[in-house]
Amino acid sequence: MKITDVTTAIVRIVGPCVLVKVITDEGIVGLGECYPSAPASGIVEAINSMKEHLVGQDPREINPLHERIRRFNLFTGAQGGAVITALSGVEMALWDILGKNLGVPVYRLLGGKFRDSVRLYADCHAGMIDAEAHHIERAGGEDDRDARMIEESVAMALEALSQGYTAIKFDVDDIYHPYKRDLWNWTLSPREIESIELRVAAIRGAIGSDVDFAIDVHARFDLPSAIQIARAVAPYRLMWLEEPVPPENVESLVTVRAASPVPICAGENAYTRYGINNLIQRGAVDIIMPDIAKFGGISEAMRAASLAEMHYLPFSPHNVCGPLGTVAMAHVCAAIPNFLALEFHGIDLNYWEDLAFYAAGKVIQNGAVPMADAPGWGIEINDEVARQHIHHRMAHDYFGEPI
Ligand code: MG
Repeated sequence: MKITDVTTAIVRIVGPCVLVKVITDEGIVGLGECYPSAPASGIVEAINSMKEHLVGQDPREINPLHERIRRFNLFTGAQGGAVITALSGVEMALWDILGKNLGVPVYRLLGGKFRDSVRLYADCHAGMIDAEAHHIERAGGEDDRDARMIEESVAMALEALSQGYTAIKFDVDDIYHPYKRDLWNWTLSPREIESIELRVAAIRGAIGSDVDFAIDVHARFDLPSAIQIARAVAPYRLMWLEEPVPPENVESLVTVRAASPVPICAGENAYTRYGINNLIQRGAVDIIMPDIAKFGGISEAMRAASLAEMHYLPFSPHNVCGPLGTVAMAHVCAAIPNFLALEFHGIDLNYWEDLAFYAAGKVIQNGAVPMADAPGWGIEINDEVARQHIHHRMAHDYFGEPI
């Protein structure tokens, strides 16, 4: 079997996701998806540049092809960013081809499944149910702001629970907080800390003790503020505090983790097994959260999960993909023992499910992805729906016709 072409489309899902098709001379087509980076057209260009290493090659040589492209780019981006994000989507598609070629689901190729369904956690964003309310809250500076934020957040949490989710996450960093002293200084004021604590307490109070509850602060605090927040939210039994400080200086995260009574989760801004290894070996994390469609792909995720397991750390991937990328990540999550929860970021996106046909029915059932016993990923893109959400005109090859 030989690869004959690699095509792409940029489709607006949670963000501008790059869908990848790897086409073979035996009629098998493999599907992949890249993390929705802002420069999606750059991801497409990076994939185009990889064609010289792919066309004419046997797509079943997954690890050699991945390593060949990674090493070729050692001086041109192999450590992270667009090149690795592009490679992640391409490698994902190669696994689909192998599964389809052998007539087995990918999780079987990864060594079998520890679980029949993969639990998702619902990203409830900042807790706003609709964009208009979100805008109003963000623009506001009124005295009842905390109360309204809490009301919206609790409603969002209960909505997620009503859909069957057993784990949720909220974004509690708030760059428009009226008591923020300075947009560039990342030190929290006492009122900001109070607002976060009030919201976390209210959400925990509303959801009870059975639900896993994490908070994300998007790497937006300085070190003293990160430690203060970790201590302030300690009573609320959080699943994790995510990225309390920026990702560039791992030693700062080590310091926060040492002082934090709450488990620290990070890794969505780490690339490749080396980036994850750096976080784990230095003792910077309690939970590791690589983004499989961004940090290197399926084999890389298996390596990272294994490394985490050897340190008794849970593996809980970051995910902002559409149905295809989410299902591909679920195959990894099914195939490792130390899986905790997989992110789902599209709870407010009404066409998310319509973008694909999944062999097990709906992709999300009762807050989880049921694993299908179909070859490859077991999921195909609904081209008609995807075409309605094309993000960028340059992505015309994927559908075999100009847009
Ligand atoms: Mg995050």
